[in-house]
Amino acid sequence: MDFSDNEELAQFRSGLRSWLREHVIEREEDESPALFLKRWHQVLFQGGWVGLSWPEEYGGRGLSNAYDVVLNEEIGASGAPDAPRIGYMGRAFLQWGTEEQRKRFLPRLLSGEDYWCQGFSEPGAGSDLANLSTRAVKDGSSYRISGQKVWTSFAEYADYAILLARTGEPGGRHKGVSAFVVSMDSPGIEVRPIIAATGESEFCEMFFDGVEVAEENRIGVEGDGWPIAMMTVAYERGAADVGYLSKFGAALRELRGLLGDRVHQDASTRRRVADLEVRYRILSQHVRRRLTERDSGDVLPGPEMSVDKLLMTDVDQALHRTAVDLLGASVLLEPGDAPWLQRYVYARAASIYGGAEQIQLNIIAQRVLGMPR
Ligand SMILES: Cc1cc2nc3c(=O)[nH]c(=O)nc-3n(C[C@H](O)[C@H](O)[C@H](O)COP(=O)(O)OP(=O)(O)OC[C@H]3O[C@@H](n4cnc5c(N)ncnc54)[C@H](O)[C@@H]3O)c2cc1C
Repeated sequence: MDFSDNEELAQFRSGLRSWLREHVIEREEDESPALFLKRWHQVLFQGGWVGLSWPEEYGGRGLSNAYDVVLNEEIGASGAPDAPRIGYMGRAFLQWGTEEQRKRFLPRLLSGEDYWCQGFSEPGAGSDLANLSTRAVKDGSSYRISGQKVWTSFAEYADYAILLARTGEPGGRHKGVSAFVVSMDSPGIEVRPIIAATGESEFCEMFFDGVEVAEENRIGVEGDGWPIAMMTVAYERGAADVGYLSKFGAALRELRGLLGDRVHQDASTRRRVADLEVRYRILSQHVRRRLTERDSGDVLPGPEMSVDKLLMTDVDQALHRTAVDLLGASVLLEPGDAPWLQRYVYARAASIYGGAEQIQLNIIAQRVLGMPR
């Protein structure tokens, strides 16, 4: 497979590179990381760099998925803040949503005006998501939703949640799960931020007490929730869809900058950095091949995305472990906008979010390789 840019991609890359030189923004004092990324998302959108592979009628640019990889690579190489993580939120509307829902939600998701969170996990339903017990009970032309979600990233800032709730029998596992769009300012929702080991409150608990959600905010028909959730998490496991390729590229660039001449003078440092570069390039080329296949076959992501999630975790953890080895543990004490300590600790969470590592291995064994349960 040819991994080089064709003429249009090369032109896009050079246009983006020049634009980034002029437009990268800095985080303001006291601005939370989440709101800073939201502001950056809006700046990128105004420049025409968000929603590249999304349909034009909903605010995208209708380009092929390969453009998302170039966007990630260039953002990472420039040291700009991460590419937006919208790639997985909202894809379900393209497949299951009504035209009215697509027009209502997608343009504002792409422009960064609305912030979304994903309300899937519960105290009794993480790896075993089919055990979820939040209930949605039909009440005229609405539903009443009650239950608890946990580990919901950015719920504190979110305008909407894509929420899974049980509309069928209790204990019905995958059957009887439905997906809803819930406006986060609805009466009956309580959001409690959780302080994580990074010192930040990226994720939250969410409590729902009879929250009214209009029937028109259900995605798909009743009981469609399971395939919607599976497609959403498949996108979430894609390094370009969640902007992680850009994040790793920026971290590598920063590490090389901090090491300076050592990379040239010391063979063992050079080997370690080369090892990281190779892992990063493999991930990036793998994602590009994956997305090119998606373009040419018009296929949706499925269980094979667990391979991508494992590769992504490998790069994240190798990168941060190597940075601490080479720069010394004292780098973990350095302050900064995104301190290495915080990123090092967050890299550990890569084995958990978006589906734990053991679960990815189970999916690959059973659903990709066809091995017995
Ligand atoms: C930073 C971060 C952000 C997150 N953001 C969100 C979010 O926005 N929205 C959301 O809905 N969720 C979110 N999550 C939750 C995440 O999806 C869950 O934590 C994850 O699915 C694991 O579920 P759990 O925490 O309940 O662990 P458990 O399911 O209790 O698993 C505990 C351990 O047991 C292992 N295990 C469980 N079952 C099996 C099995 N069958 N075979 C082998 N091993 C098994 C797991 O691999 C894991 O190591 C986030 C998590 C993190 C860390």
